[in-house]
Parts: sequence; C-alpha cells; structure tokens
Amino acid sequence: MVRAKFLKVRCEKCNNEQILFERVAGRVACLVCNELIATSTGGKARLSSSGRVLEVLD
Ligand SMILES: [Zn+2]
Repeated sequence: MVRAKFLKVRCEKCNNEQILFERVAGRVACLVCNELIATSTGGKARLSSSGRVLEVLD
C-alpha cells in the first residue's frame, strides 16, 4: 500500500512555496495570491498551470 505524500509546491505567479497534501479534497489555492495551484482528480492532487512541484516529501 502506498502512503500519501506531501508535496512542496511553488506558485508560479508569486513564487510562494507551500506544502500540499497529495490527497487533497477540492481545490487548493495559493496562500498569498489566491491563485489556483491544484485541484483534486481521482483523490489525488493535480497541479494547475500555476503550480509546480519542487519536492516530494515522504
Ligand atoms: Zn501565489
């Protein structure tokens, strides 16, 4: 069984970095500029065009 991970993501719009749970529910917005950076697809986070994964944290 694969455990859910945390992703370190960066908002491409304002360069804010934040930690995102891999299994998000709904939408995740940047905490600084409120840009949509990820949406939930099949129970997993799918990064939008404004979100970039920098690191995967176990
Ligand atoms: Zn932002």
